[in-house]
Amino acid sequence: MQNKVKVEARNIAMSYGKTQVLRDINLAIEPGEFFALLGPSGSGKSTLLRLIAGFNQAQSGQLLIGGEDISRVPPWQRNVGMVFQNYALWPHMTVWDNVAFGLQERKLPKPVIEQKVAAALALVNLEDYARRRPSQLSGGQQQRVALARTIAIEPKVLLLDEPLSNLDAKLRVHMREELRTLQRKLGITTIFVTHDQEEAMTTADRIAVLDQGVIQQIGTPMGLFDNPVNRFVANFVGTINFLPGSIREASRDMVRLVSPILGDIKLPKLPHVPKAGEVEVGFRPHAVTLRVADSARDHEHVWLQGTVLGYEFLGEFVRYRIRVGDSDVIADQPHYAGNAPFMPSSLVNIGIQPGEMRFITA
Ligand code: ADP
Repeated sequence: MQNKVKVEARNIAMSYGKTQVLRDINLAIEPGEFFALLGPSGSGKSTLLRLIAGFNQAQSGQLLIGGEDISRVPPWQRNVGMVFQNYALWPHMTVWDNVAFGLQERKLPKPVIEQKVAAALALVNLEDYARRRPSQLSGGQQQRVALARTIAIEPKVLLLDEPLSNLDAKLRVHMREELRTLQRKLGITTIFVTHDQEEAMTTADRIAVLDQGVIQQIGTPMGLFDNPVNRFVANFVGTINFLPGSIREASRDMVRLVSPILGDIKLPKLPHVPKAGEVEVGFRPHAVTLRVADSARDHEHVWLQGTVLGYEFLGEFVRYRIRVGDSDVIADQPHYAGNAPFMPSSLVNIGIQPGEMRFITA
């Protein structure tokens, strides 16, 4: 698609009455980027999306599209298209009429409308459904109509509010691939809201993680997973273990950590290690290796001993919960046919890959 635009938010703050729901929001979404706003319910995602659409008004800050301040521009002049969570299709109109509606509002010549509706329906593979009404379509098809209707008006920015949440689990996985493909094809700057970390991680180029109206971190899916800046982000983008510790020394190639559970250990220099002080040592369940107690301990891992509390069999892997001192450690072990699990109450050696440890200031 022609001229992709950048979307920027600068120091945005917004309240409903006395309740502040967005605090000092700063974002720079690149032209053509597929960008996710990820956070739990009530974190302010929809409020921010509606602000970009022009349905909400911030008390302070600036909003820019393509470098132009649009904070005071009404929604219909912003050139932004929004797909609502419930699709908001008109039930009494055919698919064709639903898609044509925005174009008719713009008073475009009839042949142009026909050509644009046909192109939009073709993009979402619904050419054969033009004469149906929304009630005669599946959830996934209704969503494609909503997308086609928005795409048809050729917005510069596409906003999607929980676009997949009304679909069942299987269809959701399929539709997120479709959405990704469509977004790539159009190259339109797209911002979508979701509370589902898997959805954000699998579709977005970059993600902003929100909690309580504050952007906690912005990064690529892998960047957030590998180097979360705080406990909230670490937990929101996946499962993680935390053990308390204290950094005693951090030189160019070595970190010395003292921890009631991990002991007094030297680790290779890792990214983002504070110079000194109390930390939480985070490591993900897949970075843990389990062995029977008292088996040989290699030098590639930091070893602990613990007692299996229980496990869940998840097919590809087994997720163990293990008691170590007064902490619980979660460990994922790949499962291969015939492997017997470690039973509850058994003692196990727990090996943690030092390169997978992350330090968060306590
Ligand atoms: P999310 O999309 O992350 O679930 P929202 O942006 O919908 O969160 O809501 C953020 C906060 O603002 C919530 O605490 C919610 O209750 C509040 N809120 C949302 N809309 C309104 C409104 N119209 N009036 C008052 N409070 C609102």
